[in-house]
Amino acid sequence: MDENIFKIRETFIDEGHGCNMWLVRGRHRNLLFDTGFGYVSLRSFLGEDVSRNVVAVSSHSHCDHIGCNHEFECRCIHSAEASVLANPTGANTIYDPYAVPEMIAVPIDPLEVKSHKITPAAPTRLLEGGDVIDLGDRAFEVIHVPGHSPGSIMLYDRRDQILFSGDAVHNGFRGIGRTSWYGADQDQYLASCERIRELPVRTCHGGHFASFDGARYRQIVEEFIAWRWAVTVDAEPSKTSQ
Ligand SMILES: [Zn+2]
Ligand SMILES: [Zn+2]
Repeated sequence: MDENIFKIRETFIDEGHGCNMWLVRGRHRNLLFDTGFGYVSLRSFLGEDVSRNVVAVSSHSHCDHIGCNHEFECRCIHSAEASVLANPTGANTIYDPYAVPEMIAVPIDPLEVKSHKITPAAPTRLLEGGDVIDLGDRAFEVIHVPGHSPGSIMLYDRRDQILFSGDAVHNGFRGIGRTSWYGADQDQYLASCERIRELPVRTCHGGHFASFDGARYRQIVEEFIAWRWAVTVDAEPSKTSQ
């Protein structure tokens, strides 16, 4: 996306299911924001030069974002979801029912989708809102945005106004990660949106789908706020991926 920011995707998985992984090369360390499903090795793909100096940060603990965490020495996640990384199950990572053979665009054995297990990899650093991931020439602030999941975080480069938003804000269905999965809470998400609506953003790189600018970012957040205030308890969003 620029000379030091790279978007990595598992191209055999559709965009709604397979997440965007973000590599940011820094002077002293490299940031890896999310690691995919783990069907193939991300460390081999990145190579040793990059991998040995990676800080792997998880936007949250859903199965599409944490699958290769075990391949990296330094693993960070918000404290609210630390236990999921240590003891991932089909239920707490939403692998069941989220991962389905139909999400694989290029055939690999569908049975592998059913039998795949997320490898346990306890975090080595627990994050809270306000913590900083310092790469040397560039630093990211942790913004805690519970809602899509209890420990969802975004990483924010205040100097360049670049935001990595995970599943909290993206350019897909209603612009947000689905809020009806395990651990999701729409009222919490509403409160998070109220807090982040004024964040100065130049470019937002989401956990799924294409990146977008600050105007679209504000539009997505405002639309969710307006929708949440308008909707009744009975009018739960229709089911879609995310
Ligand atoms: Zn996701
Ligand atoms: Zn998610």
